Amino acid sequence: MIHREVAAQLDEQSYLTWFQRVRFELGGADRVSVLVPNRFHLTYLRHRHFQTLADAIETATDLQEPRIEFRVVEDAGGDADDPEPFDEPKIAAPMPESIPLNPNYVFDQFVTGPSNRLAHAAAVAVSNSPGTTYNPLFIHGSVGLGKTHLMQAVAHVFVAKGLRRLVYISCAAFTNDFISALERNEIESFRNKYRQADALLIDDVQFLASKERTQEEFFHTFNAIYNEQKQIFLTSDSPPAEIEGLGDRLESRFKLGLVADLTPPSYETRVAILKRKGRILGMEIPDDVAEFVGRRIHDNVREIEGALMRLQTLVTIERRPLDLPNVEYSLADILEEHHPRIDLPRIQQAVVEHYDVSILDLHSKKRSRSIVVPRQICMFLARRHTNMSLGEIGDFFGGRDHSTVIHGVAKIEKSLASDARIQTAIETIERTLR
Ligand code: ADP
Ligand code: MG
Repeated sequence: MIHREVAAQLDEQSYLTWFQRVRFELGGADRVSVLVPNRFHLTYLRHRHFQTLADAIETATDLQEPRIEFRVVEDAGGDADDPEPFDEPKIAAPMPESIPLNPNYVFDQFVTGPSNRLAHAAAVAVSNSPGTTYNPLFIHGSVGLGKTHLMQAVAHVFVAKGLRRLVYISCAAFTNDFISALERNEIESFRNKYRQADALLIDDVQFLASKERTQEEFFHTFNAIYNEQKQIFLTSDSPPAEIEGLGDRLESRFKLGLVADLTPPSYETRVAILKRKGRILGMEIPDDVAEFVGRRIHDNVREIEGALMRLQTLVTIERRPLDLPNVEYSLADILEEHHPRIDLPRIQQAVVEHYDVSILDLHSKKRSRSIVVPRQICMFLARRHTNMSLGEIGDFFGGRDHSTVIHGVAKIEKSLASDARIQTAIETIERTLR
């Protein structure tokens, strides 16, 4: 049993936390599906326990290098060591290979703010009255901002409404399906299944870029559904006009209904997302922690979820309190990607930009004030922000000895107390470093 092998390799707490709710499914000659209850779980297993899993699967199944695939399924619960097969979540009468819906991607779990309000409202409207409000609905935005989440939220509502012939598929899968229909001479049945859909939800249509045959087919599919006044919902990483190699015909059709964008969430929304998702994971995230993480991670929601995973590990596995010092420590490497470590080359770069002097001059023997001050500021900032020794700093600046560095640092410290221009310069440079 795979569960038993995993349990043997982990401490009890990790096993219970991460594997109790996981199921395994053997399929094909060498494939093992790992069914997990949600996406956080999936990310965590993939990053932290992949080797454990791979070893356990190899031992338990006797497969050499099995192909391991992860899937999120609703209710992957149940007792450990009970690998009964169970059904995949169903979409009402899936015609093409619809993607299983993620139970977490529902409107209830979507946090709104200025960055996504329009897109969210439009998706809600479409889910309430398919085919009659915005058709097509076209939502675009860069990665990790909630396009797939909104699309699946609409799909969930359609399923609940009992919409029978729902097509929800990624554009890549649509393309593959089309190509294999061509190869197998089954284009008629391909057309039947897509063109008779009651709703057509296609994720990531930027994939159509420069694929002429598929675009042609897609164009006719679009028209068939549109003419029946059935809902079309498309997402993309860029607006219609910026999808390269997209013909005019498709571009203008994509703009027939509503085009709404998703932008990176504001600080307030990021904090709200942290708190809400924390609660879903069973953590009450203190305000100061949510504010700290919210300030430091801004690009997209997926990164916020990455941080949440760490916090969950901190609490459930390391069993440490969720306070600022612990959080700062456990997120250090994630945050560093956003704020590269301050080192002397970066300091020097910021200083030469501020003073408009050349790096060569800083390293030269020149002693004019316009060069000496920036050089001393570099030394001062290196002492303040790095662990470099006086000697190392001296070496960096063309082999100056450590007493020169001491003198330089002291000079700036003194000016800092009395010279407003130096104060402002240092504040400005430090801001660019952060
Ligand atoms: P995209 O398809 O735009 O790349 P996803 O829809 O996959 O992004 O979103 C990435 C992750 O961020 C998902 O886990 C999703 O649930 C989450 N997410 C994105 N936006 C929000 C939001 N406004 N509220 C809650 N979760 C969000
Ligand atoms: Mg997506």
